[in-house]
Amino acid sequence: MDYQKILFEIKEEIQPYLGLGKVANYIPALAGIDSKKFGMSVHTIDGKLFEVGDSKELFSIQSISKVFTLSMAMRLENNLLWKRVGREPSGSKFNSLVQLEHENGIPRNPLINAGAHVITDILTSNYENPKAEILNFIRQVSNDKSIDFDLEVAKSERETGNRNLAMAYFMKSFGNIHNQVRQTLDVYFHQCSIAMSCNQLSKAFMYLVNEGVDIHSNKEIITKKDSDRINALMLTCGMYDSVGDFAYKVGLPSKSGVGGGIVSIVPNKLSVAVWSPGLSASGNSLVGSKALEIFVSKTGIGIF
Ligand code: GLN
Repeated sequence: MDYQKILFEIKEEIQPYLGLGKVANYIPALAGIDSKKFGMSVHTIDGKLFEVGDSKELFSIQSISKVFTLSMAMRLENNLLWKRVGREPSGSKFNSLVQLEHENGIPRNPLINAGAHVITDILTSNYENPKAEILNFIRQVSNDKSIDFDLEVAKSERETGNRNLAMAYFMKSFGNIHNQVRQTLDVYFHQCSIAMSCNQLSKAFMYLVNEGVDIHSNKEIITKKDSDRINALMLTCGMYDSVGDFAYKVGLPSKSGVGGGIVSIVPNKLSVAVWSPGLSASGNSLVGSKALEIFVSKTGIGIF
């Protein structure tokens, strides 16, 4: 398969859509980003990288970080964890509060904000320095020590993240946040602020392509079973309230972030990372979703 040629074609075909959608200006540090940026990378299981456009440019990974923290938490508390967070799509916005009251402070899944707060709370309880552990995990799976927090983005979210704080305080009232809310959310805002490129992200997600095993060191990051489970959760919960539509059009386990990134997995084959900052109403990259749709139709690749 000539992935390089396909990436060039995709870049041409998405041109009419560039600039559509709205950048995540509710996070002031992200408001000024050029919505016409576009990058895409494919990383294959035999270690090859194909890239196009702004594929080396760093952007805020935001909710894509929820997959890394979930992997870490599943290593620590695989059974206990599922008493505190569900495994069902929410059908609501990624930062919605409504279900939490009806469902006694147990978030629907670990890939929406409320669920990710619980996961980060687990890491905060287990580690002396959870921020450093998260960074180390990502540096390990991407085999890249240069990856770091963007402290300006973290600060910007801490200063304006009242909805996240409200959600976490509400869950704490049900006993589902164990640490101080400010402490857990400081970790959460930092994990969201991590800056990575499409190239780095496609590489970092290879352990979920390769049955839980790091392709660089051959070390097990998570078990095969957990890798399968995380892929299943990405397929059913990774794209918020447009997860059904996205599965219909793309059909790959995927995770988006409001920085405009999306990563998709084809188990035992490849990962694809795409970045374009203009978002749909659900908070997913508009051009990124389109690019992935074109990618699966041109390659015929899929899990079904
Ligand atoms: N940091 C963002 C928030 O909490 C993450 C949301 C996202 O990427 N969907 O609002």
